Amino acid sequence: MAKQEDLFKNVISHAKEYGFIFPSSEIYDGLSAVYDYAQNGVELKKNIRDYWWKSMVQMHENIVGLDASILMHPTTWKASGHVDAFNDPLIDNKDSKKRYRADVLIEDYAEKLNQKAEKEIEKASVRFGESFNRAEYETTNPRVMEYLSKRNSILARMGKSLGDGDLADVKALIEELEIADPETGSKNWTEVKQFNLMFGTKLGASAESAMDLYLRPETAQGIFVNFLNVQKSGRMKIPFGIAQTGKAFRNEIVARQFIFRMREFEQMEMQFFVKPGEEMKWYEYWKSTRLNWHLSLGLGEKNYRFHDHDKLAHYANAAADIEFNFPFGFKELEGIHSRTDFDLKAHEEFSGKKLQYFDTEENKNYTPYVVETSVGLDRMFLSVFATSLKEEALEDGSTRTVLKLPSVLAPTKAAILPLVKKDGLPDIAKQIMADLKWDFNMAYDEKDAVGRRYRRQDALGTPFCITVDHQTIEDQTVTIRHRDTMKQDRVAIADLRDIIENEVSMKSWLMKANK
Ligand code: ATP
Repeated sequence: MAKQEDLFKNVISHAKEYGFIFPSSEIYDGLSAVYDYAQNGVELKKNIRDYWWKSMVQMHENIVGLDASILMHPTTWKASGHVDAFNDPLIDNKDSKKRYRADVLIEDYAEKLNQKAEKEIEKASVRFGESFNRAEYETTNPRVMEYLSKRNSILARMGKSLGDGDLADVKALIEELEIADPETGSKNWTEVKQFNLMFGTKLGASAESAMDLYLRPETAQGIFVNFLNVQKSGRMKIPFGIAQTGKAFRNEIVARQFIFRMREFEQMEMQFFVKPGEEMKWYEYWKSTRLNWHLSLGLGEKNYRFHDHDKLAHYANAAADIEFNFPFGFKELEGIHSRTDFDLKAHEEFSGKKLQYFDTEENKNYTPYVVETSVGLDRMFLSVFATSLKEEALEDGSTRTVLKLPSVLAPTKAAILPLVKKDGLPDIAKQIMADLKWDFNMAYDEKDAVGRRYRRQDALGTPFCITVDHQTIEDQTVTIRHRDTMKQDRVAIADLRDIIENEVSMKSWLMKANK
């Protein structure tokens, strides 16, 4: 655990030192759970957003984009259920005065049981080798069965209590399991209370006429209220989707995990409108399509898992998370929800406007069902950044810090380095840069010894370093160094564009998602 904590601290300090992420308004000591993306972070974040947008919008003829505003008519949030039900259960520890989410305390407890089961399974798989049958072991080994059944019954009971609004039972469960304050070990808990996560604000100049508004806690509602506008103006036929990326705001109870849980964050959401009765087919389709998108980045299949929800939100008839193995364990990265016709029906009711689709094949009107995919851009950033950060021991006994980002997402694709600052080498290097920057985000660096410049680009995640030396003057070739292998090749300047393009193009990476 200590090792994991160190790793996470490294991630945070690397993000700051190399210009990826800074605490917000740091000169005033920061603002809790709010962060700024710096010169390299903003590029990485943009590339993740583009990678998502391309796969969702550009590659699907029946999905279009939208950019709805953050401020919406306040009735939106009444209709969506957020005013009444967008709550998290909070609990305070009376001794430490620390505040926690009651459901997260229980989920963390359940996860420990899961890890115990996993440990047993792993030991057995080493013992039995190739003949090991995981599914059989999970259903026959008494110890594993006990861990898993205890975990399942805890999660089921919590799901039911939260669903029924029985907060006393959530507290009872915490006491029965003897869950202690993770920081102090105290078991002296208050009652569990509900806490609404929406940020309020006001519209209007005078106090009397000002209107109470909310900063949107999710981007999805901007899509629902525009459903008919987009369908009609785009002549969309069901099934079709509307995709959007943008800021969302939640007054999170506990936000101590860097950009994993922020109070201002960005979502990438897609609402897919389908014929009622076909939602489960599309739910399964989007579960596997979205997982494949994540896998295409090559961060390792073992780092992802599905978690089917026991505790369904008020709008859903099926829901699963894609969880990622963050530096602090498996946690939600993306949600895939079958939201039924809850939202469109609610907006019809509250607005008095029809939000139905006329199906020309069936010759009738209906309210479509919705399958949603919703991924946090900042959580994506953390998953990619933390997994890519490596300390490598080199053959000469030294170590290097390298950010092995999927090259398609790297902020800078190549750095141009003149070997020395004289003999005309900087001019040639700048000319190469001027040609390549039409196609790629490039960096130019002539300071320090070339070895140090390589290390600096490694730490920034730049896939290629291109070095201009005296031979370049004679034969128009340069060396190109590959970040991950540190291998250097001598290539013609004229071939650089194709070499880089081959490695970093979204097409070649996204094609892995369509396998
Ligand atoms: P959690 O259970 O972790 O609070 P959630 O189930 O409330 O998340 P959703 O409402 O399904 O999250 O939001 C969709 C996605 O938005 C999440 O999968 C996550 O990636 C992202 N997200 C949600 N809340 C935050 C936050 N406070 N900071 C950063 N990303 C967030």
